[in-house]
Amino acid sequence: MVSGRARKEAFRLYRELTHLLYSDIPREYRIRYLILIRKISMKTRTRIPRYLKIFYCKKCKKIILPGVDAVYRVRSRPYKHIAVKCLSCGAIYRMGYKT
Ligand SMILES: [Zn+2]
Repeated sequence: MVSGRARKEAFRLYRELTHLLYSDIPREYRIRYLILIRKISMKTRTRIPRYLKIFYCKKCKKIILPGVDAVYRVRSRPYKHIAVKCLSCGAIYRMGYKT
């Protein structure tokens, strides 16, 4: 059982690590932080926020960096979504969004 305090701390860490991910850091650090985020989520049994889920492949669960390991396309039909193509496993999947 994980305490509520640990969960709160996890969400604080997600926010902090997101700041780091969107700053100008080398690829190795980016991957390290993403591994850390997954570890935190498993240990504290919290969901990874939507804005961080774009960094993980839905099918092979590998870490994908936009423009390097995956191609992102914004499409509007049949519903508004981002089409993600993982370049390591070749899977194409949709991530819906609302405006
Ligand atoms: Zn994949």
